[in-house]
Amino acid sequence: MDKDFTSANLFNTGSNKDGASNSISNNNVNSNSNINSNGNNNSDNNCTMYWANLHTHCSLCDGKGEPVDYVHEAIKSRVKILGFSCHASLPFYTGWTMTGEKQKEYLEVVSNLKKHYEKTGSDGIRIKLGLEIDYIPGISGSNMRECKGKMQIDYSIGSVHFIGGYSPGRLVPVDSQEEDLLRGIKTYFGNNTRKAVEEYYMVLQEMIGIGGFDILGHLDLIKKNNKGSLLFSEGEKWYRDIVDNTLSLISRSGLILEVNTGGMARKYFDTTYPSPWILEKCLKLNIPIVLSSDAHQPSHVAAFFPETAKMLKYIGFKELFTLGEKGWEPCRFTPGGICL
Ligand SMILES: [Zn+2]
Ligand SMILES: [Zn+2]
Repeated sequence: MDKDFTSANLFNTGSNKDGASNSISNNNVNSNSNINSNGNNNSDNNCTMYWANLHTHCSLCDGKGEPVDYVHEAIKSRVKILGFSCHASLPFYTGWTMTGEKQKEYLEVVSNLKKHYEKTGSDGIRIKLGLEIDYIPGISGSNMRECKGKMQIDYSIGSVHFIGGYSPGRLVPVDSQEEDLLRGIKTYFGNNTRKAVEEYYMVLQEMIGIGGFDILGHLDLIKKNNKGSLLFSEGEKWYRDIVDNTLSLISRSGLILEVNTGGMARKYFDTTYPSPWILEKCLKLNIPIVLSSDAHQPSHVAAFFPETAKMLKYIGFKELFTLGEKGWEPCRFTPGGICL
């Protein structure tokens, strides 16, 4: 057992108000410098280890870098399966989703890139065409099976980024600036944070119930503006109960849950979505997981993967799911990579 990840510092019990921030501390993450992020020094029964990342945002939505820049960085970082998942267009303007026109261009650009690398076999990289699609009640994400076929994408990530009034102009972004969320909580939830957090999970539960997505994105995104338990404590019973109910639905849905390192890469906080204590529950419920970085710039294509893989091993996970040539498959992994 590695002393960097003791139960004391990895799994907070939620018994104190700041418990949630006890997860993977910066010290833990930085102390893992012995792990070669290229994975070169790691092998598992003669299997060469690579990474897979199906959650990236290039310059065609709100990320930096052209798709091809991601490919080059992925090859350098030993990411063998690279998925593009720009934010799908919505029937209203946002600064971060694609317009309908841009989405057409995106589907074409990534399809061409995919074909190019299939043909050349260059560096063994495999490109996957995906989309991160918002679930907004009555507005978006309720007919995914039909959508997926029409757009001929390889996979979809279902995410909830909005709560509030569920009509354009009345939506509250949960992962935007803190002041936007606080204003929304005041306007639509009578300043009652618990109501807003419960609403977030209710929308997520609705999305899980409707189905059609492959991956559930950043399960506890609502914590993004909760640094230092500013808004709520992850240790409170009502919070744990609603997370439990959501996990129970996921375990019966066939959805794959992502372990997302984006908050760490972008320095919002020092733990994954979802928090390690939630991942511990996922393991008990046999919920399949994928590792992704939600990269918004090429250099984040495998950000914090070795450290997070180490944490997942510590929790007890034996397999990470990836999208292979024959569909979704479980693969063994080590802190050096995935056996692909
Ligand atoms: Zn997202
Ligand atoms: Zn994303």
